Amino acid sequence: MNQYKDLKKCTACHITLDIKTNFDRKETDQFSFQPVCIECSKSISKKAYRSNLSKQVDYQLQRSHRNMLNEALAQDVEETCPIKLRAMFPYFTDKQVTNMARLNEKVNAANDFLIEEQYLFLNPKERTPEGIEYRADLFDVKSDYDEDEELSIIREEQTDLDNQ
Ligand SMILES: [Zn+2]
Repeated sequence: MNQYKDLKKCTACHITLDIKTNFDRKETDQFSFQPVCIECSKSISKKAYRSNLSKQVDYQLQRSHRNMLNEALAQDVEETCPIKLRAMFPYFTDKQVTNMARLNEKVNAANDFLIEEQYLFLNPKERTPEGIEYRADLFDVKSDYDEDEELSIIREEQTDLDNQ
């Protein structure tokens, strides 16, 4: 007799189980049992752990994008005006001035892109379907000179001058 007294229906899985083997006692009241069976309470706490973990990952991700945004915002804007560059580097050839102006324009455009990308990651609602403007005029057009080579020549000459 009284065998039904030892059974309890779990409020999560709705299975009726033996109360003493399948339910934990409440910590606050040793005479009553948890409403959820042991198996269900395990998966519930795992879910809670996972959602806590994903919250932390989200937080770290946001933080790293915020840092990248701040770094990009702190970047100095490079000089792109050939007249000002000419004044800054009087020993440059015209070609070097032109190349440097173009290179600096690229550096600025890349940094602007980075700023917008980080900002939109942090404010996804402001992202438009068109996306961020891509400066094809700067990045797609192949020029008649090898820019890296040109830059290394500029650097070499600068080092030579610094060493004098
Ligand atoms: Zn259950």
